[in-house]
Amino acid sequence: MKILVSNDDGYLAPGIVALADALSAIAEIVVVAPDSNRSGSSNSLTLDRPLTVQQAANGFYFLNGTPSDCVHVALTGGLAFKPDLVVSGINQGQNMGDDTLYSGTVAAATEGFLFGIPAIAFSQVEKGWQHLDAAARVAREIVERRFDMLQGPYLLNVNIPNLPYASLKGLRPTRLGKRHESEPVIKAQDPHGRDIYWIGPAGRAKDAGPGTDFHAVANGHVSITPLQIDLTHAAQLAALEQRLT
Ligand code: MN
Repeated sequence: MKILVSNDDGYLAPGIVALADALSAIAEIVVVAPDSNRSGSSNSLTLDRPLTVQQAANGFYFLNGTPSDCVHVALTGGLAFKPDLVVSGINQGQNMGDDTLYSGTVAAATEGFLFGIPAIAFSQVEKGWQHLDAAARVAREIVERRFDMLQGPYLLNVNIPNLPYASLKGLRPTRLGKRHESEPVIKAQDPHGRDIYWIGPAGRAKDAGPGTDFHAVANGHVSITPLQIDLTHAAQLAALEQRLT
């Protein structure tokens, strides 16, 4: 098996090092990741400047762009490597509910999925890298499972509680929950007296009931959500068709 590994925390992040270590035991891997932390970059591609790829001493490739850039360049001719699977992470912090729209971690996996390649995004629920060894072991076990029952390319979003391996409660298939609106922007002043703004934290969980990703990880389970990329609102399309045609 050949696996392309990326992330959004950058090629130096402990999460991608642990993930690459875990997967190199079971597959031929190539790592292509951003040269710096690009968390929150969603699916953006860099179109206004050229991209360059360099190789670090440990063999990882790093690129001066977004997670989507990394996977896009790797899959469209940047590397002579045709992966069977694209894996992203392990992210520092959860990507659940509405986070998935902003996540660069999920975006790197999505880019593989858009090219017809199965893809999995891995995130640890809490920041700080506690029990990263357990998360890497879980990631390897998930990659080793063949998701034949999904019949075709899949895009899986996995969130792993920061628990010792023995305390994790196993895989739980979930749907995305929902968050409240984001917290307010954080306003401050720069040294010149100008108003500046930091984007505030994500909203608290709103729909976090049984069956959601939020609920699974709160109970010690590893949450695994199959995603699709189809933004069409089918019911509203039908309503428009009834009135407008
Ligand atoms: Mn990140």
